Amino acid sequence: MTVAEVGEIEPHRLLVGHEWVDSLSTETFSSIDPYTGKSWAEIPACGPEDVERAVGAARLAFDDGPWGKMTGADRGRLIRRLAVLVDENAEELAVAEVRDNGKLLREMRGQMEALPNYYEYFSGAADKIGGDVIGSSKPNFFVYQLLEPVGVVGAITSWNSPLLIAAYKLAPGLAAGCTFVLKPSEHTSVSTILFARLVEEAGFPPGVLNVVTGDGPNVGEPLVSNPGVDKIAFTGSTVTGKRVASAAASHLAKVSLELGGKSPNIVFDDADLDAATSGVIAGIFAACGQSCVAGSRLLVQRSVHDELLSRVVDRTAAITIGNPLDLETEMGPLAFQAHYDRVVSFVAAGLEDGAELIFGGKRPDHLPEGLFLEPTIFDRVENGMRIAQEEIFGPVLSVISFEDEDEAVRLANDSSHGLAAGVWTRDIQRGHRLAKAIQAGTVWLNAYRMVSHDVPFGGYKSSGYGRENGLEGLREYQQTKTVWVETEGIVRDPFKLG
Ligand code: NAD
Repeated sequence: MTVAEVGEIEPHRLLVGHEWVDSLSTETFSSIDPYTGKSWAEIPACGPEDVERAVGAARLAFDDGPWGKMTGADRGRLIRRLAVLVDENAEELAVAEVRDNGKLLREMRGQMEALPNYYEYFSGAADKIGGDVIGSSKPNFFVYQLLEPVGVVGAITSWNSPLLIAAYKLAPGLAAGCTFVLKPSEHTSVSTILFARLVEEAGFPPGVLNVVTGDGPNVGEPLVSNPGVDKIAFTGSTVTGKRVASAAASHLAKVSLELGGKSPNIVFDDADLDAATSGVIAGIFAACGQSCVAGSRLLVQRSVHDELLSRVVDRTAAITIGNPLDLETEMGPLAFQAHYDRVVSFVAAGLEDGAELIFGGKRPDHLPEGLFLEPTIFDRVENGMRIAQEEIFGPVLSVISFEDEDEAVRLANDSSHGLAAGVWTRDIQRGHRLAKAIQAGTVWLNAYRMVSHDVPFGGYKSSGYGRENGLEGLREYQQTKTVWVETEGIVRDPFKLG
Protein backbone atom coordinates (compact mmCIF):
# COMPACT_ATOMS: atom_id res chain seq x y z
CA MET A 1 0.00 0.00 0.00
CA THR A 2 1.40 3.43 -0.90
CA VAL A 3 1.65 6.48 1.31
CA ALA A 4 -1.22 8.21 -0.52
CA GLU A 5 -3.51 5.22 -0.21
CA VAL A 6 -3.17 5.02 3.56
CA GLY A 7 -5.41 8.07 3.98
CA GLU A 8 -8.10 6.66 1.73
CA ILE A 9 -9.22 3.68 3.77
CA GLU A 10 -12.20 5.07 5.58
CA PRO A 11 -14.37 4.66 7.47
CA HIS A 12 -12.57 2.11 9.59
CA ARG A 13 -14.16 -0.87 11.34
CA LEU A 14 -13.43 -2.75 14.54
CA LEU A 15 -12.14 -6.27 14.97
CA VAL A 16 -14.28 -8.06 17.54
CA GLY A 17 -14.13 -11.84 17.81
CA HIS A 18 -13.81 -13.01 14.22
CA GLU A 19 -15.68 -10.13 12.63
CA TRP A 20 -14.99 -6.64 11.34
CA VAL A 21 -17.89 -4.61 12.69
CA ASP A 22 -19.15 -1.05 13.12
CA SER A 23 -19.57 0.32 16.61
CA LEU A 24 -23.00 -0.54 17.99
CA SER A 25 -23.89 3.16 17.91
CA THR A 26 -22.76 3.19 14.21
CA GLU A 27 -21.38 6.65 14.94
CA THR A 28 -17.89 7.74 13.99
CA PHE A 29 -15.45 10.49 14.88
CA SER A 30 -12.76 12.13 12.77
CA SER A 31 -9.06 11.69 13.17
CA ILE A 32 -7.32 14.99 12.47
CA ASP A 33 -3.92 15.16 10.79
CA PRO A 34 -2.10 17.78 12.91
CA TYR A 35 0.05 18.89 9.97
CA THR A 36 -2.81 19.61 7.56
CA GLY A 37 -5.39 20.33 10.27
CA LYS A 38 -7.84 18.22 8.25
CA SER A 39 -9.71 15.02 9.01
CA TRP A 40 -8.05 12.09 7.28
CA ALA A 41 -9.90 9.07 8.69
CA GLU A 42 -13.26 8.19 10.23
CA ILE A 43 -13.12 6.02 13.34
CA PRO A 44 -15.95 4.07 15.01
CA ALA A 45 -17.12 5.86 18.19
CA CYS A 46 -17.54 2.98 20.60
CA GLY A 47 -19.50 2.98 23.82
CA PRO A 48 -19.86 0.71 26.85
CA GLU A 49 -21.92 -1.84 24.88
CA ASP A 50 -19.05 -2.24 22.38
CA VAL A 51 -16.65 -2.80 25.26
CA GLU A 52 -18.98 -5.44 26.69
CA ARG A 53 -19.09 -7.21 23.32
CA ALA A 54 -15.31 -7.10 22.91
CA VAL A 55 -14.62 -8.32 26.45
CA GLY A 56 -17.13 -11.13 25.84
CA ALA A 57 -15.22 -12.17 22.71
CA ALA A 58 -11.86 -12.06 24.52
CA ARG A 59 -13.32 -14.00 27.46
CA LEU A 60 -14.75 -16.67 25.17
CA ALA A 61 -11.46 -16.99 23.31
CA PHE A 62 -9.55 -17.34 26.58
CA ASP A 63 -11.92 -19.70 28.38
CA ASP A 64 -13.24 -21.89 25.56
CA GLY A 65 -11.52 -21.11 22.26
CA PRO A 66 -8.72 -22.93 20.46
CA TRP A 67 -6.20 -20.39 21.79
CA GLY A 68 -6.28 -21.87 25.29
CA LYS A 69 -5.54 -25.33 23.92
CA MET A 70 -2.55 -24.24 21.87
CA THR A 71 0.95 -25.10 22.94
CA GLY A 72 3.53 -22.39 23.53
CA ALA A 73 5.20 -23.47 20.29
CA ASP A 74 1.92 -22.92 18.40
CA ARG A 75 1.53 -19.46 19.90
CA GLY A 76 5.15 -18.68 19.12
CA ARG A 77 4.65 -19.63 15.46
CA LEU A 78 1.67 -17.25 15.15
CA ILE A 79 3.53 -14.42 16.84
CA ARG A 80 6.50 -14.97 14.51
CA ARG A 81 4.18 -14.80 11.51
CA LEU A 82 2.82 -11.54 12.88
CA ALA A 83 6.38 -10.18 13.16
CA VAL A 84 6.92 -10.89 9.44
CA LEU A 85 3.66 -9.18 8.48
CA VAL A 86 4.48 -6.14 10.62
CA ASP A 87 7.84 -5.94 8.88
CA GLU A 88 6.24 -6.16 5.42
CA ASN A 89 3.72 -3.43 6.29
CA ALA A 90 6.04 -1.18 8.31
CA GLU A 91 5.82 1.78 5.93
CA GLU A 92 2.02 1.82 5.86
CA LEU A 93 1.87 1.64 9.65
CA ALA A 94 4.51 4.38 10.05
CA VAL A 95 2.68 6.76 7.71
CA ALA A 96 -0.62 6.14 9.52
CA GLU A 97 1.02 7.12 12.81
CA VAL A 98 2.56 10.27 11.30
CA ARG A 99 -0.81 11.33 9.93
CA ASP A 100 -2.49 10.68 13.26
CA ASN A 101 -0.01 12.27 15.67
CA GLY A 102 2.29 14.40 13.51
CA LYS A 103 5.49 12.78 14.72
CA LEU A 104 8.32 12.49 12.21
CA LEU A 105 8.26 9.81 9.55
CA ARG A 106 11.92 9.10 10.36
CA GLU A 107 10.98 8.49 14.02
CA MET A 108 7.91 6.36 13.25
CA ARG A 109 9.74 4.41 10.53
CA GLY A 110 12.40 3.60 13.11
CA GLN A 111 9.74 2.45 15.57
CA MET A 112 7.99 0.28 12.96
CA GLU A 113 11.31 -1.25 11.92
CA ALA A 114 11.93 -2.14 15.57
CA LEU A 115 8.42 -3.53 16.08
CA PRO A 116 9.09 -7.02 14.63
CA ASN A 117 11.90 -7.42 17.18
CA TYR A 118 9.36 -7.26 20.00
CA TYR A 119 7.17 -9.97 18.47
CA GLU A 120 10.17 -12.14 17.52
CA TYR A 121 11.73 -11.88 20.96
CA PHE A 122 8.57 -12.91 22.78
CA SER A 123 7.67 -15.56 20.16
CA GLY A 124 10.92 -17.20 21.23
CA ALA A 125 9.80 -17.10 24.85
CA ALA A 126 6.38 -18.66 24.21
CA ASP A 127 7.67 -22.24 24.07
CA LYS A 128 10.06 -21.81 26.99
CA ILE A 129 7.49 -21.10 29.65
CA GLY A 130 8.21 -23.63 32.36
CA GLY A 131 7.60 -23.53 36.06
CA ASP A 132 9.45 -24.45 39.19
CA VAL A 133 9.83 -27.43 41.44
CA ILE A 134 9.77 -26.24 45.06
CA GLY A 135 12.08 -28.00 47.48
CA SER A 136 9.41 -27.96 50.18
CA SER A 137 10.22 -28.72 53.82
CA LYS A 138 7.00 -30.75 54.04
CA PRO A 139 7.93 -34.43 53.85
CA ASN A 140 6.03 -36.71 51.50
CA PHE A 141 5.02 -33.94 49.15
CA PHE A 142 6.14 -33.06 45.68
CA VAL A 143 5.38 -29.37 45.11
CA TYR A 144 5.57 -27.54 41.81
CA GLN A 145 4.52 -24.23 40.38
CA LEU A 146 2.96 -23.54 36.98
CA LEU A 147 3.19 -20.22 35.16
CA GLU A 148 -0.24 -19.55 33.70
CA PRO A 149 -1.59 -16.60 31.67
CA VAL A 150 -3.43 -13.95 33.72
CA GLY A 151 -6.41 -14.09 31.33
CA VAL A 152 -8.19 -11.29 29.49
CA VAL A 153 -6.14 -8.09 29.28
CA GLY A 154 -7.56 -4.62 28.70
CA ALA A 155 -4.71 -2.72 27.04
CA ILE A 156 -4.98 1.07 26.83
CA THR A 157 -2.40 3.11 24.93
CA SER A 158 -1.39 6.76 24.61
CA TRP A 159 -1.12 8.66 21.34
CA ASN A 160 2.61 9.30 21.20
CA SER A 161 3.81 5.87 19.97
CA PRO A 162 0.66 3.78 19.54
CA LEU A 163 1.97 0.53 18.06
CA LEU A 164 5.25 0.46 19.94
CA ILE A 165 3.40 0.84 23.23
CA ALA A 166 0.87 -1.78 22.14
CA ALA A 167 3.77 -4.15 21.31
CA TYR A 168 5.13 -3.73 24.86
CA LYS A 169 1.86 -5.31 25.98
CA LEU A 170 0.75 -7.62 23.18
CA ALA A 171 4.05 -9.35 22.44
CA PRO A 172 4.62 -10.71 25.98
CA GLY A 173 0.91 -11.11 26.67
CA LEU A 174 0.28 -13.24 23.58
CA ALA A 175 3.39 -15.28 24.32
CA ALA A 176 2.02 -15.94 27.83
CA GLY A 177 -1.35 -17.02 26.37
CA CYS A 178 -3.56 -14.02 27.25
CA THR A 179 -6.31 -12.54 25.08
CA PHE A 180 -6.74 -8.79 24.57
CA VAL A 181 -9.13 -5.92 24.20
CA LEU A 182 -6.97 -3.10 22.89
CA LYS A 183 -8.05 0.52 23.10
CA PRO A 184 -5.84 3.05 21.30
CA SER A 185 -5.94 6.75 22.10
CA GLU A 186 -8.81 8.55 20.41
CA HIS A 187 -6.16 10.73 18.71
CA THR A 188 -4.37 7.82 17.05
CA SER A 189 -6.66 4.90 16.22
CA VAL A 190 -5.73 4.15 12.62
CA SER A 191 -2.47 2.26 13.02
CA THR A 192 -4.03 -0.02 15.65
CA ILE A 193 -6.89 -0.89 13.29
CA LEU A 194 -4.42 -1.59 10.47
CA PHE A 195 -2.37 -3.71 12.85
CA ALA A 196 -5.46 -5.76 13.81
CA ARG A 197 -5.78 -6.74 10.15
CA LEU A 198 -2.29 -8.20 10.34
CA VAL A 199 -3.19 -10.16 13.47
CA GLU A 200 -6.12 -11.65 11.59
CA GLU A 201 -3.97 -12.34 8.52
CA ALA A 202 -1.38 -14.09 10.69
CA GLY A 203 -4.07 -16.62 11.60
CA PHE A 204 -4.71 -15.92 15.29
CA PRO A 205 -7.96 -17.55 16.43
CA PRO A 206 -11.05 -15.32 16.75
CA GLY A 207 -11.23 -13.17 19.86
CA VAL A 208 -7.53 -13.26 20.76
CA LEU A 209 -7.23 -9.58 19.79
CA ASN A 210 -10.24 -7.27 19.82
CA VAL A 211 -10.07 -3.54 19.17
CA VAL A 212 -12.36 -0.85 20.53
CA THR A 213 -11.94 2.81 19.60
CA GLY A 214 -13.09 5.96 21.32
CA ASP A 215 -12.36 8.15 24.30
CA GLY A 216 -11.69 7.59 27.99
CA PRO A 217 -15.17 8.08 29.46
CA ASN A 218 -17.02 5.96 26.87
CA VAL A 219 -14.49 3.22 26.23
CA GLY A 220 -11.51 3.37 28.60
CA GLU A 221 -13.53 3.55 31.83
CA PRO A 222 -15.99 0.75 30.91
CA LEU A 223 -13.05 -1.41 29.89
CA VAL A 224 -11.19 -0.87 33.16
CA SER A 225 -14.34 -1.47 35.23
CA ASN A 226 -15.47 -4.58 33.36
CA PRO A 227 -15.30 -7.58 35.70
CA GLY A 228 -14.51 -9.82 32.71
CA VAL A 229 -11.09 -8.18 32.45
CA ASP A 230 -8.35 -9.80 34.55
CA LYS A 231 -5.58 -7.28 33.97
CA ILE A 232 -5.26 -3.70 32.79
CA ALA A 233 -2.07 -2.73 31.00
CA PHE A 234 -2.13 1.05 30.80
CA THR A 235 0.11 3.68 29.24
CA GLY A 236 -0.84 7.31 29.66
CA SER A 237 -0.68 10.27 32.00
CA THR A 238 -0.24 9.97 35.75
CA VAL A 239 -3.62 11.63 36.35
CA THR A 240 -5.45 9.03 34.26
CA GLY A 241 -3.29 6.22 35.62
CA LYS A 242 -4.47 6.95 39.16
CA ARG A 243 -8.10 6.80 37.98
CA VAL A 244 -7.43 3.54 36.19
CA ALA A 245 -5.81 1.96 39.27
CA SER A 246 -8.73 2.95 41.44
CA ALA A 247 -11.42 1.73 38.97
CA ALA A 248 -9.59 -1.58 38.44
CA ALA A 249 -9.57 -2.06 42.20
CA SER A 250 -13.39 -2.34 42.12
CA HIS A 251 -13.00 -5.87 40.76
CA LEU A 252 -9.37 -6.39 41.80
CA ALA A 253 -7.97 -6.57 38.28
CA LYS A 254 -4.19 -6.61 38.17
CA VAL A 255 -2.74 -3.36 36.88
CA SER A 256 0.49 -2.24 35.26
CA LEU A 257 0.96 1.48 34.75
CA GLU A 258 3.42 3.23 32.44
CA LEU A 259 2.92 6.89 33.24
CA GLY A 260 4.47 10.31 32.85
CA GLY A 261 7.92 11.61 33.63
CA LYS A 262 9.96 14.72 34.37
CA SER A 263 13.32 13.19 33.73
CA PRO A 264 16.63 14.87 34.60
CA ASN A 265 19.44 14.91 32.05
CA ILE A 266 22.51 15.63 34.20
CA VAL A 267 25.73 17.02 32.70
CA PHE A 268 28.95 17.19 34.76
CA ASP A 269 31.90 19.38 33.85
CA ASP A 270 34.04 16.38 32.90
CA ALA A 271 31.54 15.19 30.27
CA ASP A 272 32.19 14.86 26.55
CA LEU A 273 30.28 18.01 25.67
CA ASP A 274 29.69 17.05 22.02
CA ALA A 275 28.01 13.82 23.09
CA ALA A 276 26.16 15.54 25.93
CA THR A 277 24.84 18.28 23.62
CA SER A 278 23.48 15.66 21.26
CA GLY A 279 21.96 13.81 24.24
CA VAL A 280 20.30 16.97 25.53
CA ILE A 281 18.77 17.66 22.10
CA ALA A 282 17.66 14.02 21.75
CA GLY A 283 16.18 14.16 25.23
CA ILE A 284 13.89 17.13 24.71
CA PHE A 285 13.49 18.01 21.04
CA ALA A 286 13.30 14.54 19.46
CA ALA A 287 9.63 13.68 19.02
CA CYS A 288 8.94 17.35 19.86
CA GLY A 289 9.35 16.43 23.51
CA GLN A 290 6.25 14.21 23.27
CA SER A 291 8.07 11.32 24.82
CA CYS A 292 7.47 9.84 28.27
CA VAL A 293 11.22 9.75 28.88
CA ALA A 294 11.80 13.33 27.66
CA GLY A 295 14.86 14.79 29.37
CA SER A 296 12.89 17.90 30.21
CA ARG A 297 15.10 19.03 33.10
CA LEU A 298 18.70 19.78 32.10
CA LEU A 299 20.78 19.76 35.30
CA VAL A 300 24.14 21.26 34.41
CA GLN A 301 27.20 21.76 36.60
CA ARG A 302 27.71 25.49 37.07
CA SER A 303 31.34 25.44 35.84
CA VAL A 304 30.27 24.18 32.41
CA HIS A 305 26.87 25.88 32.19
CA ASP A 306 27.80 28.62 29.68
CA GLU A 307 29.81 26.33 27.41
CA LEU A 308 27.15 23.61 27.27
CA LEU A 309 24.28 26.03 26.85
CA SER A 310 25.94 27.83 23.97
CA ARG A 311 26.37 24.48 22.18
CA VAL A 312 22.78 23.43 22.93
CA VAL A 313 21.40 26.76 21.71
CA ASP A 314 23.49 26.58 18.49
CA ARG A 315 22.20 23.08 17.70
CA THR A 316 18.65 24.08 18.62
CA ALA A 317 18.79 27.05 16.27
CA ALA A 318 19.70 24.67 13.44
CA ILE A 319 16.68 22.36 13.97
CA THR A 320 14.55 22.01 10.83
CA ILE A 321 10.85 22.38 11.62
CA GLY A 322 8.11 21.46 9.15
CA ASN A 323 6.25 18.63 7.42
CA PRO A 324 6.70 15.44 9.46
CA LEU A 325 6.54 13.31 6.29
CA ASP A 326 9.63 15.10 4.93
CA LEU A 327 12.71 13.11 5.90
CA GLU A 328 14.79 16.27 6.41
CA THR A 329 12.42 17.53 9.12
CA GLU A 330 13.65 17.30 12.71
CA MET A 331 10.60 18.68 14.51
CA GLY A 332 7.00 18.47 13.30
CA PRO A 333 3.78 19.82 14.80
CA LEU A 334 2.40 18.93 18.21
CA ALA A 335 -0.25 16.22 18.10
CA PHE A 336 -3.58 18.02 18.62
CA GLN A 337 -5.02 21.42 19.49
CA ALA A 338 -5.79 20.88 23.21
CA HIS A 339 -2.31 19.49 23.74
CA TYR A 340 -0.77 22.42 21.86
CA ASP A 341 -2.67 24.90 24.04
CA ARG A 342 -1.49 23.11 27.18
CA VAL A 343 2.16 23.13 26.09
CA VAL A 344 1.98 26.83 25.17
CA SER A 345 0.44 27.59 28.58
CA PHE A 346 3.64 26.25 30.17
CA VAL A 347 5.69 28.83 28.27
CA ALA A 348 3.57 31.50 29.96
CA ALA A 349 3.96 29.71 33.32
CA GLY A 350 7.76 29.70 32.95
CA LEU A 351 7.82 33.44 32.30
CA GLU A 352 5.37 34.13 35.13
CA ASP A 353 7.48 32.12 37.58
CA GLY A 354 10.60 34.11 36.68
CA ALA A 355 12.58 31.72 34.47
CA GLU A 356 14.65 33.26 31.67
CA LEU A 357 13.47 32.39 28.15
CA ILE A 358 16.66 32.08 26.13
CA PHE A 359 15.32 30.38 22.99
CA GLY A 360 11.99 29.91 21.20
CA GLY A 361 8.71 30.11 23.05
CA LYS A 362 6.51 31.00 20.07
CA ARG A 363 5.25 29.75 16.72
CA PRO A 364 8.03 29.64 14.07
CA ASP A 365 7.75 32.65 11.72
CA HIS A 366 7.81 30.50 8.57
CA LEU A 367 4.91 28.30 9.75
CA PRO A 368 1.87 30.54 10.28
CA GLU A 369 -0.50 27.53 10.20
CA GLY A 370 -0.48 24.21 12.05
CA LEU A 371 0.34 23.18 15.60
CA PHE A 372 3.97 24.30 15.54
CA LEU A 373 6.02 25.57 18.46
CA GLU A 374 9.68 26.54 18.37
CA PRO A 375 12.03 24.44 20.45
CA THR A 376 12.02 26.36 23.70
CA ILE A 377 14.71 26.74 26.36
CA PHE A 378 14.33 28.32 29.78
CA ASP A 379 17.47 29.06 31.80
CA ARG A 380 17.74 29.99 35.50
CA VAL A 381 14.92 27.62 36.37
CA GLU A 382 14.32 26.78 40.02
CA ASN A 383 13.38 23.16 40.58
CA GLY A 384 10.20 24.20 42.41
CA MET A 385 8.81 26.06 39.38
CA ARG A 386 5.88 24.56 37.45
CA ILE A 387 8.03 24.05 34.34
CA ALA A 388 10.43 21.93 36.42
CA GLN A 389 7.82 19.88 38.28
CA GLU A 390 4.99 19.23 35.82
CA GLU A 391 5.22 17.06 32.74
CA ILE A 392 4.82 19.37 29.73
CA PHE A 393 5.14 16.68 27.04
CA GLY A 394 6.37 19.23 24.53
CA PRO A 395 9.61 20.86 23.31
CA VAL A 396 10.29 22.92 26.44
CA LEU A 397 13.62 22.51 28.24
CA SER A 398 14.18 23.73 31.81
CA VAL A 399 17.84 24.40 32.62
CA ILE A 400 18.85 24.19 36.29
CA SER A 401 22.42 24.68 37.51
CA PHE A 402 24.07 22.69 40.30
CA GLU A 403 27.31 23.01 42.20
CA ASP A 404 28.34 19.46 43.03
CA GLU A 405 27.30 15.81 42.88
CA ASP A 406 25.21 15.93 46.06
CA GLU A 407 23.19 18.84 44.77
CA ALA A 408 22.72 17.11 41.40
CA VAL A 409 21.28 14.02 43.10
CA ARG A 410 19.05 16.08 45.35
CA LEU A 411 17.63 18.04 42.41
CA ALA A 412 17.23 14.92 40.27
CA ASN A 413 15.20 13.20 42.98
CA ASP A 414 13.16 16.27 43.90
CA SER A 415 10.31 15.19 41.63
CA SER A 416 7.14 13.18 42.03
CA HIS A 417 8.12 11.28 38.88
CA GLY A 418 10.82 8.66 38.44
CA LEU A 419 10.76 7.32 34.90
CA ALA A 420 14.27 7.91 33.54
CA ALA A 421 17.49 9.93 33.89
CA GLY A 422 20.63 10.64 31.88
CA VAL A 423 24.08 11.19 33.39
CA TRP A 424 26.97 12.63 31.37
CA THR A 425 30.43 12.21 32.91
CA ARG A 426 33.79 10.65 32.03
CA ASP A 427 34.22 9.54 35.66
CA ILE A 428 33.03 5.93 35.67
CA GLN A 429 32.83 5.76 39.47
CA ARG A 430 30.67 8.85 39.63
CA GLY A 431 28.48 7.43 36.86
CA HIS A 432 27.75 4.31 38.88
CA ARG A 433 27.26 6.30 42.10
CA LEU A 434 24.65 8.42 40.34
CA ALA A 435 22.94 5.40 38.79
CA LYS A 436 22.45 3.99 42.29
CA ALA A 437 21.36 7.27 43.88
CA ILE A 438 18.80 8.37 41.28
CA GLN A 439 15.21 7.29 41.88
CA ALA A 440 14.17 6.23 38.39
CA GLY A 441 13.33 3.04 36.53
CA THR A 442 15.98 3.67 33.86
CA VAL A 443 19.32 5.49 34.06
CA TRP A 444 21.41 6.07 30.95
CA LEU A 445 25.11 6.78 31.44
CA ASN A 446 26.49 8.89 28.57
CA ALA A 447 23.41 8.14 26.48
CA TYR A 448 19.75 9.10 26.32
CA ARG A 449 16.44 7.68 24.97
CA MET A 450 17.57 4.09 24.50
CA VAL A 451 14.87 1.41 24.64
CA SER A 452 14.85 -2.19 23.48
CA HIS A 453 12.54 -5.21 23.39
CA ASP A 454 14.94 -7.18 25.62
CA VAL A 455 15.50 -4.53 28.31
CA PRO A 456 12.94 -4.00 31.11
CA PHE A 457 11.36 -0.55 31.25
CA GLY A 458 9.06 1.14 33.77
CA GLY A 459 8.75 3.78 36.43
CA TYR A 460 9.49 4.61 40.05
CA LYS A 461 7.18 6.83 42.11
CA SER A 462 4.35 8.50 40.13
CA SER A 463 5.73 7.19 36.85
CA GLY A 464 3.93 3.93 37.49
CA TYR A 465 4.51 0.33 38.41
CA GLY A 466 5.12 -2.92 36.58
CA ARG A 467 7.77 -3.49 33.94
CA GLU A 468 7.51 -3.88 30.20
CA ASN A 469 9.97 -5.64 27.86
CA GLY A 470 12.58 -8.23 28.61
CA LEU A 471 11.65 -11.41 30.45
CA GLU A 472 10.43 -9.29 33.36
CA GLY A 473 7.78 -7.98 30.95
CA LEU A 474 6.56 -11.52 30.32
CA ARG A 475 5.98 -12.07 34.07
CA GLU A 476 3.42 -9.23 34.06
CA TYR A 477 1.13 -11.48 32.02
CA GLN A 478 1.57 -14.61 34.10
CA GLN A 479 0.32 -15.85 37.44
CA THR A 480 1.64 -18.79 39.38
CA LYS A 481 -0.31 -21.83 40.43
CA THR A 482 1.13 -24.04 43.15
CA VAL A 483 0.42 -27.77 43.00
CA TRP A 484 0.89 -30.07 46.05
CA VAL A 485 1.15 -33.77 45.27
CA GLU A 486 0.94 -36.24 48.16
CA THR A 487 3.41 -39.01 47.39
CA GLU A 488 3.05 -41.56 50.24
CA GLY A 489 -0.72 -42.22 50.52
CA ILE A 490 -0.80 -41.09 54.18
CA VAL A 491 -4.19 -40.29 55.79
CA ARG A 492 -3.69 -37.00 57.65
CA ASP A 493 -5.28 -35.43 60.74
CA PRO A 494 -8.20 -33.40 59.24
CA PHE A 495 -8.04 -30.82 62.09
CA LYS A 496 -4.39 -29.91 61.68
CA LEU A 497 -3.14 -27.33 59.15
CA GLY A 498 -0.43 -28.54 56.77
P1 NAD B 1 -4.01 10.07 28.71
O1 NAD B 1 -3.86 9.64 30.11
O2 NAD B 1 -4.78 11.29 28.41
O3 NAD B 1 -4.69 8.90 27.84
C1 NAD B 1 -4.12 7.62 27.73
C2 NAD B 1 -5.19 6.63 27.32
O4 NAD B 1 -6.13 6.50 28.39
C3 NAD B 1 -6.00 7.03 26.10
O5 NAD B 1 -6.26 5.89 25.32
C4 NAD B 1 -7.27 7.58 26.72
O6 NAD B 1 -8.40 7.51 25.86
C5 NAD B 1 -7.44 6.66 27.89
N1 NAD B 1 -8.25 7.18 29.00
C6 NAD B 1 -8.53 8.47 29.32
N2 NAD B 1 -9.28 8.51 30.44
C7 NAD B 1 -9.46 7.23 30.85
C8 NAD B 1 -10.13 6.62 31.95
N3 NAD B 1 -10.76 7.35 32.88
N4 NAD B 1 -10.10 5.28 32.06
C9 NAD B 1 -9.44 4.53 31.16
N5 NAD B 1 -8.81 5.04 30.09
C10 NAD B 1 -8.81 6.38 29.93
O7 NAD B 1 -2.53 10.17 28.14
P2 NAD B 1 -2.08 10.64 26.68
O8 NAD B 1 -2.22 12.11 26.57
O9 NAD B 1 -2.72 9.78 25.64
O10 NAD B 1 -0.54 10.23 26.69
C11 NAD B 1 0.46 11.04 27.17
C12 NAD B 1 0.91 10.54 28.52
O11 NAD B 1 1.35 9.18 28.42
C13 NAD B 1 2.12 11.29 29.05
O12 NAD B 1 1.93 11.54 30.42
C14 NAD B 1 3.27 10.33 28.84
O13 NAD B 1 4.36 10.53 29.69
C15 NAD B 1 2.60 9.03 29.06
N6 NAD B 1 3.37 7.93 28.45
C16 NAD B 1 4.05 7.07 29.27
C17 NAD B 1 4.83 6.07 28.72
C18 NAD B 1 5.59 5.11 29.59
O14 NAD B 1 5.96 4.07 29.09
N7 NAD B 1 5.81 5.43 30.84
C19 NAD B 1 4.91 5.94 27.33
C20 NAD B 1 4.21 6.84 26.53
C21 NAD B 1 3.43 7.84 27.10
